[in-house]
Amino acid sequence: MLVQRPRGTSDILPATIGAWRQIEDVVRRTFAEYHYAEIRTPMFEHTELFARGVGETTDIVEKEMYTFEDRGGRSLTLRPEGTAGVIRAYVENKLYGQPGIAKLFYLGPMFRYEKPQKGRERQFHQYGCEVLGSDSPALDAEVVALHVYQLQEVGVQGATAVLNSVGCPVCRPRHREQMLARLLPVKDQLCSDCQNRLERNPLRIFDCKNERCQRLLVEAGAPTILESLCADCEAHFAAVRRYLEALGVPYRTDAHLVRGLDYYTRTAWEIKVEGFGTLGGGGRYNALVRELGGPETPGVGFGTGMERILLVLAEQGGTSPAVRRDLDVYVAVADEQADVYAMQVLKTLREAGVRADRDYQGRSVKAQFKAADREGARLAVVVGSSEQAEQQVTVKDLVSGEQSTIPLSELVAAVQKLEEASV
Ligand SMILES: [Zn+2]
Ligand SMILES: [Zn+2]
Repeated sequence: MLVQRPRGTSDILPATIGAWRQIEDVVRRTFAEYHYAEIRTPMFEHTELFARGVGETTDIVEKEMYTFEDRGGRSLTLRPEGTAGVIRAYVENKLYGQPGIAKLFYLGPMFRYEKPQKGRERQFHQYGCEVLGSDSPALDAEVVALHVYQLQEVGVQGATAVLNSVGCPVCRPRHREQMLARLLPVKDQLCSDCQNRLERNPLRIFDCKNERCQRLLVEAGAPTILESLCADCEAHFAAVRRYLEALGVPYRTDAHLVRGLDYYTRTAWEIKVEGFGTLGGGGRYNALVRELGGPETPGVGFGTGMERILLVLAEQGGTSPAVRRDLDVYVAVADEQADVYAMQVLKTLREAGVRADRDYQGRSVKAQFKAADREGARLAVVVGSSEQAEQQVTVKDLVSGEQSTIPLSELVAAVQKLEEASV
C-alpha cells in the first residue's frame, strides 16, 4: 500500500519551487535593505516556552500545537510560530548584552494542528522579524512599513496595514475593569469561549467571530481599548501614525483589532488585502522578554505565511515568476569510449559555474539532443573518442544550429561568450 503524506502537508515540487524561491529572495533582499540579520532556531522547543511565550489562553496553545513526549519523557512542541523561539534564543545567548538593538529575521516551516484549507496547512511556512531593545514609535513604523513593502515587492497588490493600540500595563487593567463591569451582567449570553475570555483576557472578546458576542459588546457599551489608552500609549500611537503617513504607508486604524496573541502591548496590526483577508500580522510586545527570563526589553515584530502569499498572487492573476532555464550545457556522449572524458568535461564546466548535465541512460545521440532541448539547454557539447584523442570538444549552438570543434581548454570561455550573447 502507498504511504501518503500526512494531512495538511504539501510536497513542494520542482515545478513550483521557482515561486517559493522568488518570495524567499525578495524577503532576504528586503530584510538586508532594512539591516536585519537572519536567525535560525530549533524546529521544536520545550512546550513550556510556547505556553509562556504565546499565551495559555490563545487558540494556538489551547488547541493547535503539535506536542509530544520524547523518549526522555520531556514535553516538546513543534514550533507553531516564530517569535517565542527567537526571544528564547535572544535571552539564552545574551544577545541583549551586545551594543545597540537586535534586528532579527527568520524564515522556515511552522506547525499547527488546524483544519487544513486553501492556503492553510498544518506544516506551513512563515517569514518574520523581531526587533529588540527599543520602544521608539519610529521602530513600530519601520516594521509596519517593511511588512507592507515586502508584500509589494513580492507582487501582492493592495496590501494595507490595519492598526490598533492594545495599551500597556497601565491602561489595560483599567480597561479590563470597565469590560468586566459592562459584561459580567450579561456573561451567560456570551459564547462559551468568551465566557472564559471574560475572566482571563476580556480584550479578546473583540476578536470573537460570533455575531451575538459582537452585538453584546455594543449593547453593553463596552469601551474599546483605543478609547481607554493612557496618555503615554496615546502619544506613542499618534507618533506611529505620523511616521506611517510621512512614509506613505497605506494604513487605517481599527479599534476592534486585537490579534490572537496575549503578549502584545501598544501597537498591533494585521495586513489586509481587499477581497482576500488577512496576510500576516504583528505587534509590539514589551513584556515578553522578561516573561521568558530576560531583562526588561521592549520588542516589536511580525510574521507572514508564505502559502497565503502564493494564494493571493494566484488570485490576483499572479505575477507568477517566469520559468527559469535551469541548464546551460548538455554534454552528449557520442560513443561509449568517451564516457570518462565526458565526466571530465562536465567537471570542467561545473567548476567554472556553468550548469551542465548529461545522459545516464545509454540513449542514442539523437535522443540526447532531444533531451538537451527538453531540459532547456542553450548549448550541447558533443564528445566522442576522436575529440578525446585530441582533447577537443564539439560545441553546438542549439538555437542557431552552428557547431565547431575547439580545444577543451577553450570550452569555458566559448560557453561564457555564447551565454553573454544570448542574454
Ligand atoms: Zn498605556
Ligand atoms: Zn464570543
